[in-house]
Amino acid sequence: MPPKKSKKPSRNGYWEFVLECRDKQPNKHMNMQELQTYASRKWSNLSKEERQPYEARAQVARDTYQPTKLTTDGLEIEEVERKEKEQVGKIQDMKNDITRTLKAASFAMNLDEHMFLIIHINHLTHYPNEDRFFICEIAIAALNLKNGIEEVYHSIVKPGKLPLGFYGGALAHSKETHQLIDLAQEDPCQDNTQEVFGEVTQFLKKYRNNHSPLIVYADDKTFDMTTNVINNFRDDFRFDEEIKVYNLQYMFFALRNAVAGKTVWQTETFAFSELEKDVYSYTPNIACAFHEMSDISIYCSKSFVTRYCYTICDHCCAELRIQLVPGFHVPNKSRVVTESRSASKDPSVYSNDDSRSAHSARVNNSLSSTSYDDDYPALASKSSASSVVSFSSMKTVKSASTPKKTAARLEQSFKALSLKEAAKRDHGDLAFPKHGTTRNRNNF
Ligand SMILES: [Zn+2]
Repeated sequence: MPPKKSKKPSRNGYWEFVLECRDKQPNKHMNMQELQTYASRKWSNLSKEERQPYEARAQVARDTYQPTKLTTDGLEIEEVERKEKEQVGKIQDMKNDITRTLKAASFAMNLDEHMFLIIHINHLTHYPNEDRFFICEIAIAALNLKNGIEEVYHSIVKPGKLPLGFYGGALAHSKETHQLIDLAQEDPCQDNTQEVFGEVTQFLKKYRNNHSPLIVYADDKTFDMTTNVINNFRDDFRFDEEIKVYNLQYMFFALRNAVAGKTVWQTETFAFSELEKDVYSYTPNIACAFHEMSDISIYCSKSFVTRYCYTICDHCCAELRIQLVPGFHVPNKSRVVTESRSASKDPSVYSNDDSRSAHSARVNNSLSSTSYDDDYPALASKSSASSVVSFSSMKTVKSASTPKKTAARLEQSFKALSLKEAAKRDHGDLAFPKHGTTRNRNNF
């Protein structure tokens, strides 16, 4: 609805007089027509001098009146500018907070253990009347540079029945992307959002950094939606604690520069384009059961967050001399080759069995030989040769079929998956090996 236009000023002295009569009229029940008749009779009896104050008042009103400038959408320009300013301020606050947090972690020498919670949400449709999204899948990865991916939370979300008239749009979006609409809207329509939000908040609390606020990082494309979803959930289920949604691309940019020393990325564009390249897009076995079987894993929320983690590790671990461990920092069957300039006796390829201990040894070595940088004292100096071959150049063959071609496989997926199993959060059967079973993080 367009905002009300600001009130126009009185047209002339007579109109000022009418308004005064209205306020002072003896008969409170007089209608406008009666009032005008009454005022006009009195006005005609006034001398020029008596009319003067009313004329002056009208002149002042005309002089001070400025029509409200509107945008082409009918919105007040001032209001739009105020909102834009507020938005810019919020983004700057977010950037400052991210930079400050990373610097603090770096000074505390635990940037490599700092936990990042990376979120991805798939949605069915946006319902503008209530400004809320109906979502169908959510995944959150808990990542730190030292250990890679600690755990991924994932759930299929059943948002309840879509509002009338919104099914068509949701169906079209679903067909083009995640194809989850049948699962999320299967008869009888269920609503498990409260249960999912409960699990999400538990997960966030489990992996929060010491006493810090709850923060999730969402990619640029889903940032606004994620903010909206989280805020609506907090309102709906009366969750008092704030959950900040921060921009993943900016965090990646800041983290990369925090560990990179002199080879910093000059602009955030580098972070955008590295995530956009998505070199791990067709990694097998990182999607949820439904998407893995339906051959459209690229759209899976669980796959998204996992790929983001791999890309971040790929660009940030080497600078901290952290060995990439398959299944944690890079895809499970990756061959991680060491190219240390000093004749290293470390194996050039780790199997999954000995990778953890090799990883530990390497981190220990690197920490003992760490040199310092003014801004980020916990970081090795840049002159040190990277001991890890970067995976950013590793292109995966994009072989997945288009959504249309996957209809048959999708059919199979539905048959194979009972509703209950699919709706259940499945982070219990992740492809990631469990952390903490063979060693304690504090042993480092
Ligand atoms: Zn999925």
